[in-house]
Amino acid sequence: MGKIRTRYAPSPTGKMHVGNLRSALYEFLIAKHAGGDFMLRIEDTDQERFVEGATEVIYRTLDKAGLSHDEGPDKDGGFGPYVQSERMKTGIYMKYAKELVEKGEAYYCFCGKERLESLKTEIVEGKEIMMYDKHCLSLTKEEVEANLAAGKPFVIRQNIPREGTTTFHDELYGDITVENAELDDMVLIKSDGYPTYNFANVVDDHTMNITHVVRGNEYLSSAPKYQRLYDAFGWESPVYIHLPLITDENHKKLSKRSGHASFEDLLEQGFVTEAVVNFIALLGWSPEENREIFSLEELIQEFDYRRISKSPAVFDMVKLKWMNGEYLKAMEFGKFYGMAEPYLKAAIHKDYDLEKIAAMVKTRIEVFPDIAEHVDFFEQVPEYDSSMYAHKKMKTTPESSLEVLQELLPLLEKQEDYSNDALYGLLCSYVKEKGCKNGYVMWPVRTAVSGKQMTPGGATELMEILGKEESLARVRAAIAKLRQEL
Ligand code: GLU
Repeated sequence: MGKIRTRYAPSPTGKMHVGNLRSALYEFLIAKHAGGDFMLRIEDTDQERFVEGATEVIYRTLDKAGLSHDEGPDKDGGFGPYVQSERMKTGIYMKYAKELVEKGEAYYCFCGKERLESLKTEIVEGKEIMMYDKHCLSLTKEEVEANLAAGKPFVIRQNIPREGTTTFHDELYGDITVENAELDDMVLIKSDGYPTYNFANVVDDHTMNITHVVRGNEYLSSAPKYQRLYDAFGWESPVYIHLPLITDENHKKLSKRSGHASFEDLLEQGFVTEAVVNFIALLGWSPEENREIFSLEELIQEFDYRRISKSPAVFDMVKLKWMNGEYLKAMEFGKFYGMAEPYLKAAIHKDYDLEKIAAMVKTRIEVFPDIAEHVDFFEQVPEYDSSMYAHKKMKTTPESSLEVLQELLPLLEKQEDYSNDALYGLLCSYVKEKGCKNGYVMWPVRTAVSGKQMTPGGATELMEILGKEESLARVRAAIAKLRQEL
């Protein structure tokens, strides 16, 4: 095999779903792993399903995900045009369809809507399928010519024998053999002159020298018809890799409602691009070693398509969140702050040092929306129960806490330097004098200034951010609360 060439061939029909991005990513990785080319081809022959703006979503998504293509509508690599509606204008599909007609592998069909509707339907995989009865196959060459000359509307159909079997090979599923009787004489050229997506796909993959095709296994049932086309032309078919379905945690198809259907939806929910790409790479593929965090570069190094699994891949939101958290921990602070700032500003309206708060939460959150619950107390101490002052390990009780806070208050009032270090020194010398454990003092102070069991920083870190005035106000309020409740 010559140079590895893969393509992502989306139909511009809406958002880019997780499954689409996975196909694109695997195509990209197969090409890049082998030093080959990754191409973008827009499959827009189904004009009825075309959605305005969908092509832009494709470009935007590939760009954000870092899957830059070597060739495509915007980057000529000598195999263009790269948009099927433009390829059609070159006459390429009609030329190849006519070649098949010559070979007896395809035929003109002039059947009208009424006749087609009267034909028997069959249920295949839960869908009602019309099996064409080869009525027009019996037309003589002269009859066909006369119909064409008279301008009668026509389609061109693939001629599949009713007997025998067809075998094709898929990298994951191996050899699959089907009865030809189950295969419909599918339309190759539609009455509007456009090729069907199936036909254009085969012609283009061949004429664009594509070596590997990755796509969802919903296309597995069309694969035998593809194989017959390749055989009819005498072309070698590319390596086919049909990917397993992606399901949600309940083993249902991913849905928009569950919020994990499209890449852009995930980014809107605050997920980091690199984490989503890393996560998607593992939806069906696993590396040799038991490892989960991969940059795109590392994926390129490691990706071996023979390690793709056939079993359905589960979109595990818990795992994606965990992975996102790992990316946030590793992220350069400036970038992190840029992304965290809107969430911090939404949660905190007082004039605190948001950068310091961001540094505190960086290692504690999995996704940006988690920020709110970690920092809400900066805005206001929540209602809490004084039993929170009791901590077994710290050996504190509400009573001991009241005593500590009362003794500390005058020291804190006298203290001018409210930096973390200075405050920490102050509390430590108090601890020493008292002859107790650190936590015996830190726990009540932290509870007093936050009203929370878990905070993104220690007592003195929080006080540095709150400042002297607010810290004192909170300690006094805690003393008053304990006095009242004890
Ligand atoms: N145009 C098809 C789609 O968007 C591509 C299928 C394929 O990759 O062969 O699903």
